Amino acid sequence: MRIESINPATEEVVDTFESLDERGIAAALACAESAGRRWPSVPMRDRRMMLERVALLLRGRKDRYAALMAEEMGKPVREGEAEAEKCAWVCDYYAQHAERLLAPEPADVSPGRAYVRFDPLGPVLAVMPWNFPFWQVFRFAAPALMAGNVVLLKHASNVPRCSLAIDALFLEAGLPDSVFQSLLIPSSAVAKVLENSVVRAATLTGSEAAGAEIASTAGRALKKTVLELGGSDPFIVLDDADIAKTAAWAARARCINSGQSCIAAKRFIVLEAIADRFVDAFRAEMDALVVGDPMDRATQVGPLARLDLLESVHAQVEATVAAGARLVTGGRRVPRRGYFYAPTLLDAVTTGMAAADEEVFGPVAAVIRVRNDEEAVVLANASRYGLGASVWSRDPQRAERLAPAIESGCVFVNDMVKSDPRLPFGGVKLSGYGRELSSYGIKEFVNVKTVWVRDEPPDAAPRAQSPPE
Ligand code: NAP
Repeated sequence: MRIESINPATEEVVDTFESLDERGIAAALACAESAGRRWPSVPMRDRRMMLERVALLLRGRKDRYAALMAEEMGKPVREGEAEAEKCAWVCDYYAQHAERLLAPEPADVSPGRAYVRFDPLGPVLAVMPWNFPFWQVFRFAAPALMAGNVVLLKHASNVPRCSLAIDALFLEAGLPDSVFQSLLIPSSAVAKVLENSVVRAATLTGSEAAGAEIASTAGRALKKTVLELGGSDPFIVLDDADIAKTAAWAARARCINSGQSCIAAKRFIVLEAIADRFVDAFRAEMDALVVGDPMDRATQVGPLARLDLLESVHAQVEATVAAGARLVTGGRRVPRRGYFYAPTLLDAVTTGMAAADEEVFGPVAAVIRVRNDEEAVVLANASRYGLGASVWSRDPQRAERLAPAIESGCVFVNDMVKSDPRLPFGGVKLSGYGRELSSYGIKEFVNVKTVWVRDEPPDAAPRAQSPPE
């Protein structure tokens, strides 16, 4: 099967690749199995040096990698450079902290002594999306590799060159052969790879449909999964918010990565008392965004990654307007070559409309008006998703009081939602389960092993003892 790399700004096919056939997949799995036996015995200090070299290469080549992302999935180059830098940060973070995070934990027992070890699981399959084609991979791979696992990457089919570039980068940084492998395979080949006994676990960042498929295949084989799925994050604007500043952040939080981010703010839940003024300011910010060639450093919004994605975003906007929402600005393709969509603002959106109920993966903001803080929380939770949320107010304590009731994996007050290597990242409800990053992320793919040592066996087994299980 052919895998094509298409430039979404020009609609041209840039490169094509043949996907791995069954023999190629079997060979890759055999290599992963033997790498998985050797890699855990490479001392932590050496693993750390390799990951630090990966970080150095990422920083030194950020312009090259940003150009690659722009060409394959349309990310504006300045955002691509920031993405390469963030990948370097996560490599440095785990290079520096993995040993401490995975240090054996002593337990207070007697007789004898006991502790908990965190041993690697072996080869882990990582199924990744195109939207942050470097970051999503490194966010998982940096801790997994430091923990002693080996990685089999199945990247999205529209970013094969990014996938191969990451593979080459790990090799160049000195990681032994097959510790990190990129498999160019279609999604139809994933189940067979996952079912193979060499693969011990899987992580997927992507859509609910793909998540459900991976989880059921893994479930049948009793293998662990982590799922990072979609989101429709609420951005709650309380009636004492600084309207100008908050509207500027609203446009940024919605249109980062041209609107194609799982943690982009998507539903703008605004208290009625300030809604008219907020919508006017938000409209001005959306209209001021520079849409254009992702290679141009002035560009803030590039093309969407694929034609089918552009068409589904437009269909969601049309359905929302047909259901009674007000189109404030945008709502159309930009009349030029490439998959460009105009930054769009919808007002008077209510539950039951596509922009409220579904994830919209493009530069489209939906304003939902509410009467008070309590109603804002009810509407924030009226979603199948629960990834992130933000609350904006001049009174941070008032905003923070809403945090416990919001059903999401994180809540930010007066800042946009973002991931950070020092903090756990992940969702609830249909946004998935498990966590990446921080101490939580590195422990998702380890064998939490109890070791109990006595200097000598007890004299004789007592007649009655507590159940062994
Ligand atoms: P997608 O269609 O689910 O693709 C993601 C990955 O899964 C790709 O590698 C894809 O391969 C593979 N895949 C698709 N269907 C599969 C199946 N049935 N079995 C096995 N693998 C399968 O997602 P997308 O539309 O490209 O990405 C956007 C979605 O990802 C959005 O919902 C977004 O919110 C979510 N996302 C979540 C996070 C997070 O951290 N929570 C981060 C970024 C994106 P092919 O390309 O070959 O189909």
